[in-house]
Amino acid sequence: MIPHPDKERRPGERRSLTVKQAMLTLPLVLLLSVLAGALELALDTRQMRQQIEQRTEYRLDLVLGTAAEAAFQLNPDLASQVVEGLYGGGRAARVIMRDDFGRTMASRSLAWEPPSGRLADALFGDILHYQRTLYYGTQDDGAPQPVGELHMTLALSTLYRDFLGQSRFVFTLGVLKALLIAALVVALFHGFITRPLLRVHAAIVATDPRRPGQWPKPRLRHHSNDELGDLVHSLDELLVAFQSGLDQRDRLRHISTMDGLTGIANRRRFDDFLEAEWQRAMRSGSALSIIFIDIDHFKEYNDHYGHLAGDDTLRSVADVLTGVVHRAADLVARYGGEEFVCVLPDTDLQGALQVAEQIRHGISELNIPHAYAAGSDRITASLGVASATPADGLNCAELLAQADAQLYQAKHQGRDRVVAHS
Ligand code: GH3
Ligand code: MG
Ligand code: MG
Repeated sequence: MIPHPDKERRPGERRSLTVKQAMLTLPLVLLLSVLAGALELALDTRQMRQQIEQRTEYRLDLVLGTAAEAAFQLNPDLASQVVEGLYGGGRAARVIMRDDFGRTMASRSLAWEPPSGRLADALFGDILHYQRTLYYGTQDDGAPQPVGELHMTLALSTLYRDFLGQSRFVFTLGVLKALLIAALVVALFHGFITRPLLRVHAAIVATDPRRPGQWPKPRLRHHSNDELGDLVHSLDELLVAFQSGLDQRDRLRHISTMDGLTGIANRRRFDDFLEAEWQRAMRSGSALSIIFIDIDHFKEYNDHYGHLAGDDTLRSVADVLTGVVHRAADLVARYGGEEFVCVLPDTDLQGALQVAEQIRHGISELNIPHAYAAGSDRITASLGVASATPADGLNCAELLAQADAQLYQAKHQGRDRVVAHS
């Protein structure tokens, strides 16, 4: 009996290959996605900074002419419109417009800006402040003269909030991508590795240990040229070799229990069989019968017709025996020389006598001429029959001796007959 591998494992330990692979893949893919996300964010931030700078410069450029005019005319209403326009975008923390004497013409600033921390400062601290000098061309000489200044400071908290929004988006997308990739990898691994392995395992479990060569070898499509294909191939070779070992063992076992001349059971097989059947009869309380068969005047037959003819006759007699005694539970054996024996389990004396009579008749009916036999012109045999139940208090050897004694009686009484112990 092959010990099942599961029996050597503790119950809680079992875990599917797919689960293990998922547990390895998921953290790895997540880590990679975080790294990729960080890289992507760094690139995004660079682009974001450029966009902020460009957009701010552009907005300042747009209002520059109007602002210069307001400064030249010292027109506070126009200056307020310009400041309001710049401030209105929602990204400015402070917008101030001054005339060329440094006096504030208009300004707007956030009442309070929430602190954004060092990271925000490091990311955007250097692109917050913008300043433009306002020039205005006079009609006399046409050369533009400085007429004021425009200052604009962006709100760090707003930029940082945008940055955080972008980070959240990038990382969420990254994690979702990672989960999708991990799920795909795990599904592929399961379909390509785990499932074929499960099929191999199921085939091994379904294999009859007595017939390993007939194992339900799995046909793994797409794996004929890889390690899984090699595994199945090696397993197949191993099991086929194992089967041929078993077959050889069975053959040797059969040969060792078979009589070489007649092909029926030999003396060793008879001894084992009788012993086992006797034990069985003891347990079940049923009858067991034995028939001894000895060919009459066989020495003369050999002497006159030769040993080869004698061998043929032995084979013919064995054929008669196997023809008459054909119940699966019975045994026909060559006891030695020209003596045969039949063991008939679950058979009483009456039944055994009938069988013995059929055998005697069958041998006589072979009509093998024997001109040198006293009292007959053909091959005949004498038979001794004994039967017992465990209640009779005999042992196996005594039963055998009884059958032998009956055979002796049959010879004594003139041969070609059946004598039974009454
Ligand atoms: P009986 O009627 O009293 O049985 O006389 P028998 O001649 O048969 O008695 P015995 O047991 O003395 O002779 C047995 C003979 O069987 C001896 C041998 O010539 C022959 N014999 C035994 N084994 C073989 C065998 O394997 N092949 C052949 N050809 N003859 C065998
Ligand atoms: Mg004999
Ligand atoms: Mg004989």
